[in-house]
Amino acid sequence: SDRLIAPQGSSEDERIESSIRPKKLADYLGQVPVREKLGVYIEAARRRGQALDHVLIFGPPGLGKTTLSHVIANEMGVSIRSTSGPVIERAGDLAALLTNLQEGDVLFVDEIHRLSPVVEEVLYPAMEDFQIDIMIGEGPAARSIKLDLPRFTLIGATTRAGMLTNPLRDRFGIVERLAYYTPDELTEIVVRSAGILGIDCEREGAAEIARRSRGTPRIANRLLRRVRDFAEVRHDGRIDAAAARAAMGVLEVDGEGFDPLDRRLLSTIIDSFDGGPVGIESLAAALSEERGTLEDVVEPYLIQQGFLIRTARGRMATSKAWRHLGLKVPPRQPG
Ligand code: ADP
Repeated sequence: SDRLIAPQGSSEDERIESSIRPKKLADYLGQVPVREKLGVYIEAARRRGQALDHVLIFGPPGLGKTTLSHVIANEMGVSIRSTSGPVIERAGDLAALLTNLQEGDVLFVDEIHRLSPVVEEVLYPAMEDFQIDIMIGEGPAARSIKLDLPRFTLIGATTRAGMLTNPLRDRFGIVERLAYYTPDELTEIVVRSAGILGIDCEREGAAEIARRSRGTPRIANRLLRRVRDFAEVRHDGRIDAAAARAAMGVLEVDGEGFDPLDRRLLSTIIDSFDGGPVGIESLAAALSEERGTLEDVVEPYLIQQGFLIRTARGRMATSKAWRHLGLKVPPRQPG
């Protein structure tokens, strides 16, 4: 997706994120309950001189799963190797990764719900007993041998809680869910990123950016970079509240962090379908968008913020949607 407010990372994001990614738990802002628990688990494991238990991190894209994994490895004083579910195609790929780890190392597997069943089978004994069975030779002469692995920490990340198999989920000792960030937390993150990137950003300017970032640090950091361009070209380079608001106007990101597609979805339900309910296929056709795009990248935030609801008969706009579009709320509208 090339939307400015897309939570998925682009290659530009990746390049810049590595420079602003927090490295210590103390710099990992927000997520207070998660941070507090992990701080204790890390300290305890360190005192015992043991590897940290395997950690599973749930959460939508851009909320800090990769960042947290690096923070954990850094706080444990170990190395981290990163891969992702779909990249590990064969059992041998996983075996190669595992046998190259050092005692205590972190193996980070992004999108862990996308591991193939064959690879998952290899992972179970590796996680539980720190052993793997590998096949030597072929045909009738083939035999399997057990290899001992170093004690390592697997950190799995997934955006889809429901997509993980039970046996895999059960093998994680620590399971944490990341929440969307509050505007105050995102303001802190923007202020911190601006400091690192040498951007002159007032707190009020950071707050304007934070409010429109859909609870997501990746979006906040991206909007900060775009607003900076406007502040430098159209103002004196300083991001204050007015400069941030003016830039967001041109970028078409409104006060709720909605972009034209979000607003088009809501106004189509209201104007063309009397507020709903409307089936997803009809809605996709009316918007000339793919159903999957609407379901995966547009609707979740609108639903989470209470502008849209999913009923058995289809999607409905709530009274919040009418108000947001500056329309008079009809009687008996939900929400
Ligand atoms: P995910 O892996 O969940 O998609 P990332 O860990 O890549 O998300 O986070 C995206 C960016 O957001 C990171 O580069 C980092 O700069 C920023 N970020 C994420 N979480 C935090 C946090 N808690 N505090 C500060 N910055 C954060």
